[in-house]
Amino acid sequence: TPDDTLVTWPVHIEVRLTRSATVRFNVVRQAVHEFMTTSFGAVIWPSTAIEDWQTNPILGSSVERIYASEFSCSGRSIPISQADLQIHVFQPYSDDTYDECTGGGDGEEEVVSATVTEMPSRSLEGLWESLIYSDGVKSKLLDYIYATIAFSDADVDFNVVSWNRVVLLHGPPGTGKTSLCRALAQKLSIRLAHKYDHARLLEINAHSLFSKWFSESGKLVQGLFGNVMEMIEEGDRFVVVLIDEVESLTAARAAAMAGTEPSDGLRVVNALLTQLDKLKHKKNVLVMATSNLPKAIDSAFVDRADIVQYIDLPPKEAIYQILHSCLLELIKRNLVQPTEVPNLTYANYLITDNLGETPDTADRSTRLAFKLMELAQRCRDQHLSGRALRKLPVLAYATYSGAFSQGVTSGKGGSQPGTPVETWLN
Ligand code: ADP
Repeated sequence: TPDDTLVTWPVHIEVRLTRSATVRFNVVRQAVHEFMTTSFGAVIWPSTAIEDWQTNPILGSSVERIYASEFSCSGRSIPISQADLQIHVFQPYSDDTYDECTGGGDGEEEVVSATVTEMPSRSLEGLWESLIYSDGVKSKLLDYIYATIAFSDADVDFNVVSWNRVVLLHGPPGTGKTSLCRALAQKLSIRLAHKYDHARLLEINAHSLFSKWFSESGKLVQGLFGNVMEMIEEGDRFVVVLIDEVESLTAARAAAMAGTEPSDGLRVVNALLTQLDKLKHKKNVLVMATSNLPKAIDSAFVDRADIVQYIDLPPKEAIYQILHSCLLELIKRNLVQPTEVPNLTYANYLITDNLGETPDTADRSTRLAFKLMELAQRCRDQHLSGRALRKLPVLAYATYSGAFSQGVTSGKGGSQPGTPVETWLN
């Protein structure tokens, strides 16, 4: 409709500064805004790196990367004139992970029960983009979490509308749940930087916490959450608590009920639930939990999750994209000869456009598209997880190293061309 031209859409632009940049964030934000509205093209595409800002003196000397995130409104481009630019400038920390110890006191041994990462972290850069799902799961999750944060900021009465700041991701192993939680934490730390000066990710592996220190677990949970409380006390820090393999913690209650692990198990679960209930009144904390076995999770825990998201094995299209990204990396490292490997959209176009023509008679790009899509289908038939897919290139090389040896031995030097891509796809 004609009114469409009046609508504006939020577009998040993430601007990463170099390690050594000392320029004020505000100055960079302004420079990026000016660049985007005057020197950039007419439309902006989701999930793309912004190019050609290097000649701007402020940006050229302090910026490493400018990136337009996915849009929640559409997967297509937006005219710059209709983009409500939200520019997030950040300078990630490096060397930023340390162990959190609890227990101790009274001459007891200290126990490493969690790791803490200062956010945004250099080690998590690129993770969000590397995770590929087909149905917009990533932006949906980010939007949900944004919504809960907007509600707390608006001071919505808890007695009327309530939520718990708990997100649960479940699904088969190797589907990227833990990575997605970390990537979400990184996103939040970048997007919420205007509200919180600091952000931290605290990762608890429920399985190790529980199996090693069973009788101590209740106390450890309390200790850990005590630390979280301290971290968020001042109100200027946002903390994401990630509980991996949460089923091992909460399955304890079931065991307790069955009489195999009497009071200990119950104590841990109750400690966890009590601590979660305390956190729900705090604005600056989010709890994310992952599980491979949702059926094993205590229903009291599942009830507390605002968002329960199933993360499935990747469908054919997502597999194609994962394999495509692996190939690009191999080309970059000279293990594969430089070749244009069509991306998913182009591959779909080539494949449908060539209906009637056999893969053998088509040009090289089309043949590659056919071949990679066929491989993706085979991986799908084998129910391969994202983790298994990312291992495929190494396995292929290990299994058929004879075929590769000519190109690969010279890969490191960078001057030799590597192995033809067809060898890898065979
Ligand atoms: P989970 O917690 O579900 O067991 P992880 O987060 O440990 O899975 O995933 C391991 C790795 O597998 C990830 O770091 C990533 O490299 C790869 N991976 C898994 N799922 C995907 C996906 N959907 N897209 C891209 N890579 C994936």
